Amino acid sequence: MRFHFTITITAIFLSATSSLARKCGNTQVPVELLEQAIRFNKQDVNRQTWGVGVSVQESTHESNRYNLPKTQAINLYMHNIYINQTAEGAYISEEDLQKQWRAMNDHYASTGISFVLKNITHTENKSWALAIRNGTTELKMKQSLRMGGYEDLNLYFRVLGRGFFGYCSFPGDYAPNSEGFWQDGCDILYTTYPDGPQTNYNEGKTATHETGHWLGLFHTFQGGCRGGDLIDDTPAEETATHGCPATKDTCRGDMWPGLDPIHNYMDYSYDSCMTEFTPGQAVRIYQSWDRYRNPQTRGPPTESQN
Ligand SMILES: [Zn+2]
Repeated sequence: MRFHFTITITAIFLSATSSLARKCGNTQVPVELLEQAIRFNKQDVNRQTWGVGVSVQESTHESNRYNLPKTQAINLYMHNIYINQTAEGAYISEEDLQKQWRAMNDHYASTGISFVLKNITHTENKSWALAIRNGTTELKMKQSLRMGGYEDLNLYFRVLGRGFFGYCSFPGDYAPNSEGFWQDGCDILYTTYPDGPQTNYNEGKTATHETGHWLGLFHTFQGGCRGGDLIDDTPAEETATHGCPATKDTCRGDMWPGLDPIHNYMDYSYDSCMTEFTPGQAVRIYQSWDRYRNPQTRGPPTESQN
């Protein structure tokens, strides 16, 4: 749904009524990224450029069902920061983290994106496990644990507090060793890994959703009916979805065809309900990748070191 220059902050009403509902911290999109997304949205009107819906010889990735001309393998570093070595203490075994990694590869298969697991770290540190978003303790944790460059994904599985299931840094132009560089990555609630203890949200799709933000995707309900995620093949929706309501249709009338995209990974539905990224989202991922993260093509940093 296209964006009409009405930046509205979507109410996260679900989290206020139930601590068991998905709540993501990425409800506000930085203005620079919104402006870039508007430019991306104009570019991808010509889908031929990206090969969506047409057969492209170069696409040999058998699971890339959109026949995108691209695939991309992304290095993945997983970190578990726990209070003590029990399930209640936020400890996740290496085996369960590997399950989470494999789940992400399944979820992203249709887009041609894959993740190469480079390392898993376990750190017992109560204050890091409980650190609040963007605070000095969280920064210190990431300065100690973050691995790789700006093109590499770091996931931190820990206790987030404030009802968050996850939050993630959107892509930007950060200089190496700037605060934005160190903060780059996704924080994931430790209970959401596949077969983990978070009822209705334990198929590992929280990490998939958050990583979508890291790759430049917005919520499908961003800005409501008159706002939009700036991707044309995700139907508009006014509110985040709770559960899996098959007939949910919050934006009606000729202007807003289609039911709400409750099955999209970038909504708030139950894990069992989330099954897809659209072709337009796959295109956006590659646009964002090339603009912000690909070392060969990304823009120069604008945030100086601090
Ligand atoms: Zn989100």
